[in-house]
Amino acid sequence: MNTNQKAVVVFSGGQDSTTCLFWALERFEEVELVTFDYNQRHKEEIKVAKEIANDQNLAHHILDMSLLNQLAPNALTRNDMEVEEGEDGELPNTFVPGRNLLFLSFASILAKQIGAKHIVTGVCETDYSGYPDCRDIFIKSLNVTLNLSMEDDFVVHTPLMWLDKAETWELADQLQAFDYVREHTLTCYNGVRGDGCGECPACQLRQKGLETYVDKRNGGGS
Ligand SMILES: [Zn+2]
Repeated sequence: MNTNQKAVVVFSGGQDSTTCLFWALERFEEVELVTFDYNQRHKEEIKVAKEIANDQNLAHHILDMSLLNQLAPNALTRNDMEVEEGEDGELPNTFVPGRNLLFLSFASILAKQIGAKHIVTGVCETDYSGYPDCRDIFIKSLNVTLNLSMEDDFVVHTPLMWLDKAETWELADQLQAFDYVREHTLTCYNGVRGDGCGECPACQLRQKGLETYVDKRNGGGS
């Protein structure tokens, strides 16, 4: 049985990974964060991640993944392209193929170095937007591969895998972190913290989930 009590959370400073952070804090004695720096559209993301890590008094590892820019120039990593939503089931142009494969592989190498057996990631199949490496079957497969590659027994945790955006807010609330997540995290493509710009696809998705959950909490939904 895996009795290790140390976890690494893949952390971007957004709603999902911050909720995962609180989820991990409730379960593990020791939590460290890893953030991947690949010239995000807004350096603000890294700044927000650092501030939350400081705020929660957690060790924070920032890994330079700028090589992703060479492999997949797109709207997330290049400022001269606009963010657009995919149409008719096409992938949005923020798509970096295999990104989670890379991130989780690096997170597990970090975990190995710092003696953590648990890796926590906010990937989610419910809002499946075409990223094959967010699927549960992929995570389970990768978990086996990571363990074989390093002769170890890591457990990759995906607390948001089957939650929709409203349920993710509900989880944050159960973890006593609803206000914190709402006020401190950055989801907005335009770099506006908290409730965001209200215009971009990320803000609209976040806001819709928030409203659905708040309605439910207030006894609505009938
Ligand atoms: Zn926005």
